[in-house]
Amino acid sequence: RVAYVNGTYQAHGNAVVHIEDRGFQFADGVYEVWSVFDGKLADYEGHMQRLGRSLTELRIDIPMTAQALGVVLRETIRRNRVRNGIVYIQITRGTAPRDHAFPKGVAPSVIVTSKPIDLSKGEALAAKGAAAVSHPDTRWGRCDIKTVGLLPNALAKQAAREKGAYEAILYDEMGMVTEGSSTNAWIVDENGKLRTRDTQANILRGITRAAIMKLVAEEGIELDERAFSLEEAKRAKELFVTAASSFVMPLVSLDGEKIGDGKPGPIATLLRQVYLAQARREAI
Ligand code: PMP
Repeated sequence: RVAYVNGTYQAHGNAVVHIEDRGFQFADGVYEVWSVFDGKLADYEGHMQRLGRSLTELRIDIPMTAQALGVVLRETIRRNRVRNGIVYIQITRGTAPRDHAFPKGVAPSVIVTSKPIDLSKGEALAAKGAAAVSHPDTRWGRCDIKTVGLLPNALAKQAAREKGAYEAILYDEMGMVTEGSSTNAWIVDENGKLRTRDTQANILRGITRAAIMKLVAEEGIELDERAFSLEEAKRAKELFVTAASSFVMPLVSLDGEKIGDGKPGPIATLLRQVYLAQARREAI
């Protein structure tokens, strides 16, 4: 395997950034993930635009155009011979003597990796449905920026894994679901209404979420962009999460309580199918 590190492709096992890198010292960086189908990137523009926005929000200037970044993403996929999988980019403010304030005249660090994923595993899981646990949302106040400050997300995901669950569903002080630890959360509520939290709230604006919203409209399904509580999630007919790395994953339990009839529901199953078909078709 190879990784792109600041302008060169290096053997993955030896690819390093400096200990004074601000990503390492302060989590002062942003990242993005695309899913890869047949060597091509899904939701290409959406993820590239969010990367630009994340960089702007943190005032990190990179001396590379989106087009040049695209070349690096594709080259990393090619050199790793990834047909189906993901490609990951992380951009930090760069390496500088440790000081909380931003350094001047420092070049950002850019690293890109890509790895294959066996899509059949996700298909098998989606067919029977996955488990979730709830977890308080202790993340910071700017969850709309895709920063690498992911410790609270990592703690939540680990808590889920230790309980044999696929995802942690995060909730705020009011008991309202914010999102998943690395996904956006959706329900089909007791009244059969499809709901997902609005993005005015402190959550990540999922690119997959946005793509699914378009498909939902095309399918003539009504969507209520309104927060739901943990209790509503537990009583819901369907619960599912979306992300570039999970597509649409039906969740059939939350904190050990069965969701609906304990099987992936019709809406999640339909949306997974249509999303995957579109993502494959439109990957570039
Ligand atoms: N929320 C969080 C906290 C995430 O980390 C992610 C994906 N990394 C998402 C939602 C889903 O976003 P996307 O559909 O753009 O992958």
